[in-house]
Amino acid sequence: MLNFCIFASGSSGNCSLIRTAEAVVLIDCGVSSKYITENLSLMGLNPQDITAALITHAHGDHLSASGLNFLLKHNIKTYSHDCVFDDAFRKYGEKMNACRCVCVNASFKIKDIEISSFDVYHRDARVSKTLGFTLSSNVCARKYKIGYVTDTGKVCADMASHLKDSNILAIESNYDREMLEKSSDLMKINNGC
Ligand SMILES: [Zn+2]
Repeated sequence: MLNFCIFASGSSGNCSLIRTAEAVVLIDCGVSSKYITENLSLMGLNPQDITAALITHAHGDHLSASGLNFLLKHNIKTYSHDCVFDDAFRKYGEKMNACRCVCVNASFKIKDIEISSFDVYHRDARVSKTLGFTLSSNVCARKYKIGYVTDTGKVCADMASHLKDSNILAIESNYDREMLEKSSDLMKINNGC
């Protein structure tokens, strides 16, 4: 079994769910605790069924105060880069300290899901790091791969290489010319990096 469900996508909040035979994993918790619980219920799941959460970055539409409360209330292991946790700590303080944070590097495993993380070009004064993820799991002896990227300012060769061969590719993005013009990522593009 490999289910992928987008609960919410966009500037008002992001939250997705991946379900395999052994694991239920949330990606981002940028919506309310109530909204997550309601959407889990529609899938016949309870918060207690969640194995872990992955957080792409610390903007409020990807990790909201209410989303963090959800993770804390249900003692859910939360995976991200240590820079993302540092950003979240600056925003949410002691609450973030109470969260069961697991710092990850390039690749790791949650039950029957192999996960790779990689850098995404999305930074500002509040966000020093944003991760994209690929999640792979076997269904009937065949490997399926989901690619998940959010808010990126560009797609570089490294990202494309990670996302290659994805069976499902989820990209959340919006076009904001003013933000792009102020973005350090745009400077990198102009500089040919
Ligand atoms: Zn963002």
